[in-house]
Amino acid sequence: MVLNPKFEDFIGQGMVSFSYDDGAMNNYDLGIPLHEEYNLPATFNIITSIVDGTLEQGAKAFALDYFGMPITRAQIIEMSNLGYEIAAHTHTHPIQHRQGRFLSDYTAEEVLYEYTTANGLLRKWGIPRIEGFAVPGSKWTPTIADLAKPHYRYVRSLGNRSVIPYPPTDPYNLPSFFVGGTTSVKVIKAKIDEAISQKKWLIIMMHGLTKQTGNVQEYLYSTERLEQIFQYIASKPEEQLLAVNQQDALRFITNLGDFVVDKISLSLSGKTLKATGFDEYNNPVPTTRGFNPKWSVVNGDVTLTTNSDGSASVLGKGTIRVKDANNRKIYSKRNVNVVS
Ligand SMILES: [Zn+2]
Repeated sequence: MVLNPKFEDFIGQGMVSFSYDDGAMNNYDLGIPLHEEYNLPATFNIITSIVDGTLEQGAKAFALDYFGMPITRAQIIEMSNLGYEIAAHTHTHPIQHRQGRFLSDYTAEEVLYEYTTANGLLRKWGIPRIEGFAVPGSKWTPTIADLAKPHYRYVRSLGNRSVIPYPPTDPYNLPSFFVGGTTSVKVIKAKIDEAISQKKWLIIMMHGLTKQTGNVQEYLYSTERLEQIFQYIASKPEEQLLAVNQQDALRFITNLGDFVVDKISLSLSGKTLKATGFDEYNNPVPTTRGFNPKWSVVNGDVTLTTNSDGSASVLGKGTIRVKDANNRKIYSKRNVNVVS
């Protein structure tokens, strides 16, 4: 379980995020144990058609050629339950290698298909809080960004090595530092130093991982080098450098604070009351992610009190709906206080 920082931990210091593209199984096999060991949050940007097996053979062969086996649905769900962010990376991953067309060459209709199929599938698989989208091939355009706005909270854009100011110039254009198979630890450490000294946000973007040491092929990175980077980050005090996933980092630098459950639905089944929180995109927030309210009724007023388990904070107003086993509404109240 990775312990994601809270808003109160952010004091304007430098931030670093790890962002893995495509969804290689080695992200799970080799990356997760290292992230767990150093308690470093991460974001995994998944090509959904590789996971559900619908990506056409040619493209699949290309993908497998560089990163081995694709990650499974069960592994994605496990990573999400461990506290890692899951984000979208289109459904079919339009890139020049395949069809001569990047996402930027697609019609609006085709782009929307990619957006809604990707986040729709991830939600269907039970992943909460799908807020991010990483553009394949770093081919960002203003049109792609505009089309993403109703579906995502942010877009990770170019691997152009920029660090991001607070607040970001545009949440739908968040650049990153592309780490390829030959990128040295020294160069990455220097970039981390830049984030610390300038008090900016560095997103380190990678693809697959390998146990091979030294320089490796472009879309892999050596875990030996990655661990050296993790050790470097661990050597920095948290007041200087905060390791955080992308969705939380964006909340912090846009002053949104900790994640808030906007809407609460209570369902009554027999004598068991089940509470589910929903985020702004109507994603259900499961109890394992820090939403675990108790409730009490005093003079007709319902108050929910959350158990604070340290993994998330729930604070604000919600709508409470109590239904019976036959899905009939037996109680409904707006603006219920939720206190952490
Ligand atoms: Zn990609």
